[in-house]
Amino acid sequence: MRTPFIAGNWKMHKTVSEAITLAEALRTSLADVTGVDLAVGPTATALYAVNRVLSGSNIAVAAQNMHWEEQGAFTGEISPLMVLELAQYVILGHSERRQYFGETDETVNRKLKSALSHSLSPIVCIGENLEQNRAGETVSFVTKQIHGAFAGISAAEARKVTLAYEPIWAIGTGLTATPEDANRIIRTAIRDVLAELYDEQTAETIRVQYGGSVKPHNMAAFIVMPEIDGALVGGASLKADSFTAIVKNALAAL
Ligand code: PEP
Repeated sequence: MRTPFIAGNWKMHKTVSEAITLAEALRTSLADVTGVDLAVGPTATALYAVNRVLSGSNIAVAAQNMHWEEQGAFTGEISPLMVLELAQYVILGHSERRQYFGETDETVNRKLKSALSHSLSPIVCIGENLEQNRAGETVSFVTKQIHGAFAGISAAEARKVTLAYEPIWAIGTGLTATPEDANRIIRTAIRDVLAELYDEQTAETIRVQYGGSVKPHNMAAFIVMPEIDGALVGGASLKADSFTAIVKNALAAL
């Protein structure tokens, strides 16, 4: 039985003081929630402050990115050791990082290996763009991303990974995959592929979130799908009331 997992990706939003305000509000509004793992992903500048606000609460902290090296001449980057002091989770390979910052399956794989070796809990994002979707290439593309991300990673390590299936055309657009389509892609392009790469038990252990315009009104329809274990939420995680409603609506539907 996989524990549901709902995470907010704050992207490049919130100054430190705004992030503290949001984290404080969530700490209160979600205090009574059990049976679901929760995390929020502030920008790197706000990780320290948000970590302090959420320390001892039921909400974990996620970094939005990291370099694979522990230290070095990599201006502007943050390392796994730096993340480890401030966050339990790290989001890797978000489509915005792939699209705007040149991340590839290979760099995601290096980051994933590094995160796992530093005992961070990675959330690896995968998903097709609109062109690939329209051309019927979703399954082959996502399969390739899974092979790329997990290259050289053992089954025991793979089980610690969370995947976020995020069709790129659904991110920030208000469009969503249908819950049935998302469920089917997660089964055929993710779990079946993981079962081939590893084994059934590993494929059934790994949590897979859906991401792409998740809102309070549509969360329930996704979470009831057997292959969907939660959500990675962008825009709707920026306000305490909408993220709280997403979490509560998910729990009510389970
Ligand atoms: C995301 O940032 O991963 C995301 C899914 O964004 P949104 O919920 O705004 O589509």
